[in-house]
Amino acid sequence: MVSDKINEIMNEQINKEFFSGYLYLSMSAHLHELGLFGFSSWLKIQAREEVEHGLKLLDYLLERNSYVTLRQIRTPEFEFKGVKSVFETLYEHEKCITHSVMNIAKLAEEECDRMTLSFIDWFIEEQTEEEQRVHDIIKRLEIFGEEKASLYLMDKELGLREK
Ligand code: MG
Repeated sequence: MVSDKINEIMNEQINKEFFSGYLYLSMSAHLHELGLFGFSSWLKIQAREEVEHGLKLLDYLLERNSYVTLRQIRTPEFEFKGVKSVFETLYEHEKCITHSVMNIAKLAEEECDRMTLSFIDWFIEEQTEEEQRVHDIIKRLEIFGEEKASLYLMDKELGLREK
């Protein structure tokens, strides 16, 4: 069984991962409405990945014979100010997620919970990848701009993402 503190922070993280999925799905739907199907599909795959992260955390708690408490997922809100702004919002959100994953590692260290510490390592690596991936998209949107031709090409390319 994990400690009460670890249990609390892990349940909180499950909620954050599901919320991320919710947020990215709302972005995906919006871009779909605009006809940007490739961007939309990329975001939907990202949303699915976040839900998978939530499930991974949930499974871990169960494996440690600990309690899972599912909480209300808040309504995702974002202001649409162009395609780049969507990815900037996503990037900022992922940085917050990285911060909370780091807090889990910190707490696990304090609690001398080596199992949680080694489990959460995977998430830390995953966050590095995720931040980098989104940052690359923002950089390219910056350099190529949000003109129709460049959006069209990037939309096609991002639409190729399979997982
Ligand atoms: Mg995640």
